[in-house]
Amino acid sequence: MRPHPPGGEAPHRAGCGCQHGRVSIDLHTHSTASDGLVEPGELMGLAAEAGLTVVALTDHDTTAGHGRAAAALPPGLTLVPGAEISCYVEVDGRSVSLHVLAYLFDATEPAFASVRAQIREHRATRARQMVRLLADAGHPVTWEQVSELAAGTVGRPHVAAAMVEAGLVPTVSAAFSREWIGASGPYWVGKWQPDVWQTLSLIRAAGGVSVFAHPYASRRGVTVGPDVIERMTAAGLTGVEVDHPDHDSDERRRLRGLAADLDLVTTGSSDFHGSSKPQGLGAESTSPATYERLVAAASGARPITGPTG
Ligand SMILES: [Zn+2]
Ligand SMILES: [Zn+2]
Repeated sequence: MRPHPPGGEAPHRAGCGCQHGRVSIDLHTHSTASDGLVEPGELMGLAAEAGLTVVALTDHDTTAGHGRAAAALPPGLTLVPGAEISCYVEVDGRSVSLHVLAYLFDATEPAFASVRAQIREHRATRARQMVRLLADAGHPVTWEQVSELAAGTVGRPHVAAAMVEAGLVPTVSAAFSREWIGASGPYWVGKWQPDVWQTLSLIRAAGGVSVFAHPYASRRGVTVGPDVIERMTAAGLTGVEVDHPDHDSDERRRLRGLAADLDLVTTGSSDFHGSSKPQGLGAESTSPATYERLVAAASGARPITGPTG
């Protein structure tokens, strides 16, 4: 990374290749194709405004936003098509949920496409079941209301948002508690997802590269240990997301050390969702060298560049 030329306050220019003020590569964002609040095309505009030169669109278990994002690419911005896959791993008889970022895979490869469709379908059914449980208990939440709140796939966050709107809970996080639709809560319904081994193999078979999303983010729930990451590496994992808003400095340090031991690339990304989460686009960044290593390891798709000139 070249430092920005001296004279500190000079504005950043596209293509100056520096890290002036803002970062330029953000490999984890969500749009309305999943649980983000910004439409895919609009997200590309915001990415360019934030000074990004490369942005990955990684909606949960779907590539539905890629077309709109690609069509709206402003000059100078490169789109990395991706998805964030929900899966689980069995650790000591206990199932731990994980997210794996898949980049540059062939979106039409049928085996992986069908698993993504299954995850989405189960998520939608699950939301319906939770709404039914709430309604049966006399709470004023309807499926119409929940689906209206979701521009893309309907998920548990939309049920939570409807509960806030109905005045049942003060905040979305209160809805996610054990009293309501949090794990083991009275209105909670379990979900189906592939295991991490199947997920890694599907991504590889579709020509993609995989990066374990926020592996040590203990504030999000139960996390796995280094032994699981080592096994994932043997199963084809290419990188770990180290710089993520949900990792504290100790988690980042431990993960960076492990990545060095296992020869995994380390990424940094905002996990932007729009105004529902505090982090802005480019809040964390990935180095150009890492980005190039990921692109070189993928054969399913290429990054998409915006119009030139
Ligand atoms: Zn995630
Ligand atoms: Zn995410």
